[in-house]
Amino acid sequence: MANAYDILIIGAGVVGNAISRELSRYRLNVGVLEKELDVSMGTSSRNSGVLHSGIHYKPGTLRAKLNVQGNELMKGLCRDLKVKIEYLGKLTVAQDPVDIETLEALKAQGETNGVPGLEMIDVAKMQQIQPGVGGIRALHSPTTGIICPYGLTIALADNARENGVNFHLGSEVTGILKTENGFQVKTAGGDSFETKVLINAAGLYSDAICRMLGLTEYAIYPCRGEYLILDKRLNGILSVLVYPAPRKGGAGLGIHLTNTVDGNILIGPSNEYVDYADDYACTADIIDQLKKEGQALLPTISTSDFIRGFSGLRPKQTPPEVKGFKEFVIENRKDIPGFINLVGIESPGLTCSPAIALMVRDMVGETLPLAEKAHFMAERSGFPGSFHDLPEEEKADLVARDPDYGEIVCRCEQITKREILDAIENPLGNRTLAGIKYRSRAMMGRCQGGFCMPRIVQILEKDFGYRPEDYRLYSPDSYLFTGHVR
Ligand SMILES: Cc1cc2nc3c(=O)[nH]c(=O)nc-3n(C[C@H](O)[C@H](O)[C@H](O)COP(=O)(O)OP(=O)(O)OC[C@H]3O[C@@H](n4cnc5c(N)ncnc54)[C@H](O)[C@@H]3O)c2cc1C
Repeated sequence: MANAYDILIIGAGVVGNAISRELSRYRLNVGVLEKELDVSMGTSSRNSGVLHSGIHYKPGTLRAKLNVQGNELMKGLCRDLKVKIEYLGKLTVAQDPVDIETLEALKAQGETNGVPGLEMIDVAKMQQIQPGVGGIRALHSPTTGIICPYGLTIALADNARENGVNFHLGSEVTGILKTENGFQVKTAGGDSFETKVLINAAGLYSDAICRMLGLTEYAIYPCRGEYLILDKRLNGILSVLVYPAPRKGGAGLGIHLTNTVDGNILIGPSNEYVDYADDYACTADIIDQLKKEGQALLPTISTSDFIRGFSGLRPKQTPPEVKGFKEFVIENRKDIPGFINLVGIESPGLTCSPAIALMVRDMVGETLPLAEKAHFMAERSGFPGSFHDLPEEEKADLVARDPDYGEIVCRCEQITKREILDAIENPLGNRTLAGIKYRSRAMMGRCQGGFCMPRIVQILEKDFGYRPEDYRLYSPDSYLFTGHVR
């Protein structure tokens, strides 16, 4: 029967995709329902992209355990999926004496969690590791790293797809009925799906999915983190990540400086509860705050280095009056057999995602047999990587074979027409402007698409027959040239 699955996953963020890719190893029929027109359109594309070491979480908690495991698993996963990853290390910096005690406690906590190589260092060593860094003492954690969060999420989905997982994009779950053998799931478009096991990985909307099954004990409070992106001109000035010592009562880890794997620096995130789970505004007051706090950590940054802002929303389980953190919910509900429920997967959910996938796989194994496929493809095929990063001879060779490699479409990021075409013809069949951007890096440079976006629109029109009403940014109702623009 069409639309009948062994397992349906709601949500194609990094958590849902890590789970679907892990389950694609087994002889199981797996589907993913995602309300947007592409994967990674929620929190998974709107974060710091830091592979945390595991110092920040209380020993014995799920977050501590999954963080350290996820950090270890990520290396092999990124190798197989051809995702950029760098273990740069991190300085958590004391600005005044009271912070030093906090750092000593973090070090002890990290060691209990099994984080290797932690060291308290003085100003001389701090300057050796990161010249110009402010502060009086620091905790150095060498296993902290950076990855491309949306690159990882897309790669997981591509690999899951090539191992047989079906992605239903633009499919918002609006109703769930418990049946004798599993679940019937309805979407906004009127489609109906049957499944034996249902996995809730809906991030900011995971509480809404719970309510569809009558579970009212969970609530998500979106907490916004805004960022500033700095020009690639500064690439290389930051050799480690620089975080402030955490302060009591904060909802996040404090405003920090983070390299991206593509050579930008991020300042952020702020932390402010908001009323709506799609309120991704960037605000003047926070931009000023980011500038001030970023410059306290690295005084050489100037305003002309800011190229744009963005924000992400933490799916917090703690309301504004409580703040702080609450443990991840990852449960195999015995009262609703077949329902695996993930709620409140805030930071470090990106780092934890491969470990969460293993935990959920074991839960699935309590309901369905886990028989491995004979031909699981662990390595992602058909992704050539970035043309710009190749040696000159290889570039010349590719241009000779395919003239589309010889035409630069995005000047800032040096993205070729071939890479745009590959992004348009991706394995998931997504053709939104955001999908092209996240897959190719076009529109991500200093001009933010001012030069290349009209050319990409033209390619879609000429080579793919797009009409004005066909263009979307990322969701079914995000029209670019006609109708309602979201
Ligand atoms: C500001 C900020 C900074 C962070 N920094 C880091 C960091 O540096 N390192 C780290 O490890 N973690 C970090 N995190 C945490 C990390 O980003 C998240 O834990 C992770 O992305 C959560 O992934 P997810 O798949 O659960 O959620 P999401 O990415 O939000 O995915 C959920 C998906 O479900 C879909 N969905 C929702 N409702 C429905 C429905 N009804 N039907 C169908 N689909 C639906 C959504 O469209 C979405 O695509 C940060 C988070 C924030 C906000």
